[in-house]
Amino acid sequence: MKRIYLDYNATTPCESWREVLSANMPLNPSSLHWHGREARKILQIAREKIYQAFSIDPRKYSLTFTSSGTEANNLAVNSFKSVFASSVEHPSIIRVPHVELITVNQHGLIDLNALRAIAPRIKGSLVCIMLANNETGAIQPIDQAARLIKEYGGFLHSDCVQALGKLEFNIAAADSFSISGHKIGTFPGIGALIHKNTLPIKPLIFGGGQELGLRGGTENVLYADIFARAIEGIPKMVKEYNSKVSGLRQHMEHLIRSYLPSVKIWSEEVDRLPNTSCILMPWVKAQIQTIGFDLAGFSVSAGSACSSGKMEESHVLKAMGLSSQEASCSIRVSLGPKNTQEEVNSFVKAWQEMHQKLGQTRGHV
Ligand code: PLP
Repeated sequence: MKRIYLDYNATTPCESWREVLSANMPLNPSSLHWHGREARKILQIAREKIYQAFSIDPRKYSLTFTSSGTEANNLAVNSFKSVFASSVEHPSIIRVPHVELITVNQHGLIDLNALRAIAPRIKGSLVCIMLANNETGAIQPIDQAARLIKEYGGFLHSDCVQALGKLEFNIAAADSFSISGHKIGTFPGIGALIHKNTLPIKPLIFGGGQELGLRGGTENVLYADIFARAIEGIPKMVKEYNSKVSGLRQHMEHLIRSYLPSVKIWSEEVDRLPNTSCILMPWVKAQIQTIGFDLAGFSVSAGSACSSGKMEESHVLKAMGLSSQEASCSIRVSLGPKNTQEEVNSFVKAWQEMHQKLGQTRGHV
């Protein structure tokens, strides 16, 4: 059976890094000898490439390599006693116990009035507002929020993991931002927190003083090198997402809507990532949909997280005010540059067939 991957927000197909992987040398950048110095050079060049890609002044910012976007978010959040976060943030932010949530509107955008209401309490606190949401693709009004946060003396952290490679962004408004390699074609296992030097970041992992004392453990030089090379490819990637992939998404949504004019696609009224559709198939649980699509050869995701074998309703869709039925019957389709129109056509056909079979009856399937 032909397998069609429509889950680019979960992870992306790995590019071929064979050429880099053949670099067969010991890579401990802390060693003082020649081999160590060579490894240090590779790490430094990777850091510089990333600074350059984001037009960052290395005298004002630091980059801490981490194992993932999750760790980068944790590193930022755990550095502060007082943390506020939009209620649609990734679990790596909102599951940290001391985080206080800020409401969002029905499109999943931060409620600026709610932010204004807590503003007198944010002095010296970290406020987390992601650039783009992983489930709906909604893009936050980050500049407006940043102005308010700055005015009241707070620090802004922006999770840019999902925006990376899909959106051109300049994050000068934020005090820190997180990124992750496997969303742009590297292997999972590398991420980074980029932060202003004025931000009081405290290490999560203690060790031999690596990463300026902010992250103990021998750096993964090879992955840092690959990450930097992938980041250099972002302008081309962003172009592809915003021409080819956004056209495919438009085509897919148009076909589904032609078949079912009342279809609900969450956050479609606001700016979204060019590849993401969060689609409701009324009365068919997301778990049933993902299993059904998998059997038909399509890899898509339920918005909801699966924990201990139990499906939880998506906290993102719930925060947007959706009913339990709506939140539990929506799936995320996230397209990528390797998808084709034929693949999208066959997915829509499978969606229609499933809807005809299971979605016509009012009663949870
Ligand atoms: N933040 C967002 C918005 C994400 O979508 C993800 C992963 O899906 C993460 C953080 C975590 O990144 P990683 O998988 O590198 O831990």
